[in-house]
Order: sequence, then C-alpha cells, then structure tokens
Amino acid sequence: MLRIFHNLFGINEQSRFQRAWQAFLLGICAPFGWLFITFLLQLTPVDPLYEVALYTYITVGSVFAMVGFALCISKSEEHFARMSLLDPLTTLYNSRYLLTRADQEFALLERTGQHMALLMADIDHFKYVNDQYGHSVGDIVLHQVAKVMQTTARKVDVVARVGGEEFALLLPNSTTAGAMILAERIREQIEHTPIVLPDGRSFNVKISLGASSTEEFLPQVFNELYESADNALYRAKRDGRNRVVKAVETDMLTNDVAC
Ligand code: GH3
Ligand code: MG
Ligand code: MG
Repeated sequence: MLRIFHNLFGINEQSRFQRAWQAFLLGICAPFGWLFITFLLQLTPVDPLYEVALYTYITVGSVFAMVGFALCISKSEEHFARMSLLDPLTTLYNSRYLLTRADQEFALLERTGQHMALLMADIDHFKYVNDQYGHSVGDIVLHQVAKVMQTTARKVDVVARVGGEEFALLLPNSTTAGAMILAERIREQIEHTPIVLPDGRSFNVKISLGASSTEEFLPQVFNELYESADNALYRAKRDGRNRVVKAVETDMLTNDVAC
C-alpha cells in the first residue's frame, strides 16, 4: 500500500504524462467517492442534508487533492533545487553554491570584521590512478577524498568540488593559521587513509593544498582570494606535491592560472 502511494505521489522521475494521469485518476474517482458516501449514509437527492453533504464533499475533496499535489510538487522542487547545488559524484557542493556563499560571506566581512580563509586542493597524480586502476576506481577515490574533507571540516565550512579532482574549502570566520591547521589535517588524513578496492587491493593517494585568507590582504572580490589560494596550490605542486602552501603577497598579485 505504502509502495503504491509512493509510486503515485513520490518524487521518482515522473513524466508529465504520469502526473496528468494521476490527476485524471483523482478526478475520475471523485464521483465514485460521492456514490459511496451516499450509499454509506443512505442519502437520496430528496434528503434535506443531501446538498450540504455534496458541497462539503466537493470542498473537502478539492482541498485535499490540491494540497496533496502542492506538497508533491514542492517536494520535487526542493529536491531539484538541492541537486542543482550539489556535485552528483561526491555530494559535496558545486562551484555555483560556492560562489553564491562566497558572495554572502564577503558581504558579511566588512560588517563583522572577521576573517575568511580559502583552501584549494588537488589530488596528486590522479591521472595515474585512473590509468592504473580505471576510471571507476578514480571515482571511488574522489568519493573518499571528499568524505575526508567533509568530516574534517567544520559544519559552517563550505566544501565544494570545483573541477575533476579539485576541491575548494571556504572557511568563514577563519584565520590563515586556522586554515593551515585544517589543511594539514586533511592532507595527513588522506595520506594515511588507504583506498580499499572490492577485490582487496589497496593503495594510498596524496593531495596538495594552497591556503589564503583575508587576514593577509583584503580582496575586492572573491575571485582574488580564489586566485591567491590557487597560485599557492600551484606552488605546492611545483615544490614536490603532498604539502600545504600558504599564499604570499605575490600569489595575490599574479594572474597565473594555477594547475
Ligand atoms: P597533478 O599531481 O599535477 O595534479 O597531476 P594529475 O594527474 O592529478 O593532474 P591532471 O590534471 O593531469 O589529471 C587530472 C585527471 O583527473 C585527468 C582526468 O582524467 C581525471 N578526472 C577528471 N574528472 C574525473 C572524474 O569525475 N572521475 C575520474 N575518475 N577522473 C576524473
Ligand atoms: Mg591533480
Ligand atoms: Mg587538477
């Protein structure tokens, strides 16, 4: 019974035709419902209560049907609105959400006087993982790395996947020192958490991170903070990978495209 109800009103991939069919069924059942009620209450058209009962039935029935469909549609809307902000593979936030939140946090900075930090992270030699173990294992790695980041960061931090094997962590109310501690914790955790494959094989991956914060300089736009963290990440790669590098002034001035 529950399954039938769920299939009828759930948020499965319902086509427009299915939705219309559900509405049609509801509509066509209404007169039968009325017949059933008249039978149950032994009502006839000459009965003085007949009209009152009929109007009550129509009103209550329409309200229930409309509320039911409104709930169903709003549930789908919520579901799709949420999905549009998440990366489907890792269920982390996507770039769209990161940029929206970054703008909001930026607007708050001036008022609160607090600092905000940004970490950019990129898995080391990820192409080798794909080549060696296959793309599906690469996806398992992305999933696991994302999980480590999500569980290591605070609830208020925004952890997003911004590229194939690239991640960004927006840390509201954080200093550079705090960002470096978190970055190092993530790096260590990933390095020491083996990826275990279903066939028993296991291997480890490593990650490089760049950290920047508004403590060092006050960017005009979020993109400047993003670029400085990305340039620090580029230096982490260049200096040997598997490390955390803090942004320096030149990272904030250069327009190099990192990694
Ligand atoms: P580096 O240490 O310099 O970062 O080297 P790298 O091999 O990690 O960097 P590169 O940019 O050369 O390779 C990134 C690889 O990520 C290439 C691409 O095939 C892979 N990739 C991108 N998106 C996905 C994905 O969604 N799933 C999987 N499995 N692989 C992906
Ligand atoms: Mg990489
Ligand atoms: Mg990359």
